[in-house]
Amino acid sequence: MSSSQSIHDAPAQAVALPTELAEINHDVLDDAILKKLIDPEVYYSFVQCRATGVPMEKQFADALAVSVREWAQSKGCIGYSHWFSPMRGPVHGEKLETFVGVDFDADRLVVALTGRDLFQTETDGSSFPNGGLRETHEAAAYIGWDTGSPPFVYRKTLYIPSAFVSWTGEALDQKTPLLRANMAVNEHALRLLHHLGDEATTEVVCNVGWEQEFFLIDRNMYLARPDLVAAGRTLLGAAPLRGQELSNHYFARLTPRVNRFMEEARERMWRLGISIRCTHNEVAPAQHEISPIFNMANLAADNNVLAMDVLRDLADEHDLTVLFHEKPFAGINGTGKHNNWGLNTDTGANLFVPGETEFESRRFVAFTAALLRGVNLHGDLLRCGVSTAGNDHRLGAQEAPPAIITVHLGAGLEQHFRDVAEGGPYGAYEGQHKEIEITAPVADIRASLEDRNRTAPFPWCGNRFEFRAVGGNQHIAFPLTMVNAGVADSLKAMCDEADAGKDIDQVIRDTIKENQGVLFSGDGYSEDLYQHADKWNLTHLESSPEAYETLTSDKNVALFVSLGIFNEREIAARQGVLQDAYVTEIGIEARALLRVLSTMIAPAAMQDVGSGEGAGFSSSLLDEKKELVAQLLASADALSDAIGGWPEDDLGAAASYAHEAIKPAMQAARDVADRLEDLVDAGRWPIPTYSDLIYNQ
Ligand code: ADP
Ligand code: MG
Repeated sequence: MSSSQSIHDAPAQAVALPTELAEINHDVLDDAILKKLIDPEVYYSFVQCRATGVPMEKQFADALAVSVREWAQSKGCIGYSHWFSPMRGPVHGEKLETFVGVDFDADRLVVALTGRDLFQTETDGSSFPNGGLRETHEAAAYIGWDTGSPPFVYRKTLYIPSAFVSWTGEALDQKTPLLRANMAVNEHALRLLHHLGDEATTEVVCNVGWEQEFFLIDRNMYLARPDLVAAGRTLLGAAPLRGQELSNHYFARLTPRVNRFMEEARERMWRLGISIRCTHNEVAPAQHEISPIFNMANLAADNNVLAMDVLRDLADEHDLTVLFHEKPFAGINGTGKHNNWGLNTDTGANLFVPGETEFESRRFVAFTAALLRGVNLHGDLLRCGVSTAGNDHRLGAQEAPPAIITVHLGAGLEQHFRDVAEGGPYGAYEGQHKEIEITAPVADIRASLEDRNRTAPFPWCGNRFEFRAVGGNQHIAFPLTMVNAGVADSLKAMCDEADAGKDIDQVIRDTIKENQGVLFSGDGYSEDLYQHADKWNLTHLESSPEAYETLTSDKNVALFVSLGIFNEREIAARQGVLQDAYVTEIGIEARALLRVLSTMIAPAAMQDVGSGEGAGFSSSLLDEKKELVAQLLASADALSDAIGGWPEDDLGAAASYAHEAIKPAMQAARDVADRLEDLVDAGRWPIPTYSDLIYNQ
């Protein structure tokens, strides 16, 4: 190999590859493959359609469909489905259609897929969460191919990633608003670059690298827990004798069963073009993480949903169950999904790298200033973006980012921003790395200039920001839409000022100064953060119901409408869908807990007490159990009463009631049940314990 050649230029066949690596991209119809399958003029027409949204001419679309179908057939497919993301968690929608058509002239079956079939299909929008945008008598909805996200083959079906809108053109899905928010970021980022003197860039894209955490537990144990089956989390359960306190699970080796699972998961995802790079054990026993290399936000969101599907399917095949819920077990680490977020240009620049030239340093400060403003003014939206019933168990609970959204730059960089705000030079923040000397024979380490802050909701990571507050069971498109909306609004505001004649450097300085309150590099789990939030008047929304209320504030409606992300009806619908999901989820939990207490826990505990009394024993243990059983019955009654008092006509009120009345009633009942679990005859305890669940891999 000549010195100018990189390892990537070496011919592929020169190096033997394990089959897993030989089959990467096997099942994804990306541009590289598509280009080989279709005529250049068809490809050109396709690329034009992707760039403009103007449909391909019929003969080109039909030719494209033939090639796509033949490619899918060669992978064993007999049919296809559009693959879309209704307004629910990361659970996609699909409707299988076959490649069988009818030639009515010859009156016989044929194998066919038309261009129209490939690009769109129609469905009933009223049976998906729609927030009133659809009704049973006005139900039409359309699903359209998102040509920015490549088709793929999974389970012998050709899947076509798609957007999902109502007959009125209003978004019924997670993807459409994200695509619109990406457009808004692109538009206003280009304006800002223009103000900074960049004439070459024609596109700014948002990149995302997610980190998916999850628990893997034995399937039979899972099935024996009605609470897990109904709610995805344990609603009761005493702490195990050993939890995560030894810190010996994080990055420890995988058990043989989980290792086999991970090997297959990686292989399957690679075939689908999902670039899984990292797999490891997480903090809690039975908890793990996978993450791919970042890609464009829209594709990253699709890949994440698909990866979750693969994990679910594989878990079944290994007699395991995967839990994505944000808090499946009390007292041990919950499950998040950090979203590493950044902006890149088509000229190859990363807008969040401090840079080496004056131009790059200024660009970095300008874009980071926009982010500071976005987080400061629109902390309510970022909080909404991560608000779910499940994620409320994490946020602000000393294990995950707090409910107050702040930005961590690191002490050195934060000072630099304060200096720039006072007129200091952009280029004063020098270098991007420092060296750490260990000792020979270990070579010096190249380290990031700033420390890591695991308590920060939005830390800078050297070339990107990490939105750490996203929940493990969320569809990431919605939180990303909120981030991009806040940032696009700020880019727009800065450019509007510059367009009106204000000096762009003054705009940058003022933006930092006015939004510096959002900078916090301290310990986000400490009291300091609350004092800081008070001092700078930062948004502090403790619970999801509070956050949802803010979605339709005048400020937020104006923002969404002006950026073209949501119209007024769409944002009201989204608010309703979120509130409804919150109420429904807590309703399921409350009823599941009541049933487990009434039909399993109370009878077992009463039998245990009865057998002790029957044998004529008297002891303080027996007395305590008796007392706890009485408390358990009373707390179950109280929970039942609380459920009975749920307001029904107003969704906002119902959501607040869930938070303020139902959750405390559930907690009170659970506390008693957990104390009983520590005392009652283990042979009588009717459901698997925490130890059974987390130490059975
Ligand atoms: P951590 O050490 O925080 O757990 P990981 O290595 O698990 O981080 O994940 C980091 C993620 O950030 C990866 O998905 C990686 O591809 C992504 N990432 C790296 N650079 C960028 C960037 N410029 N923009 C967006 N994401 C990025
Ligand atoms: Mg990680």
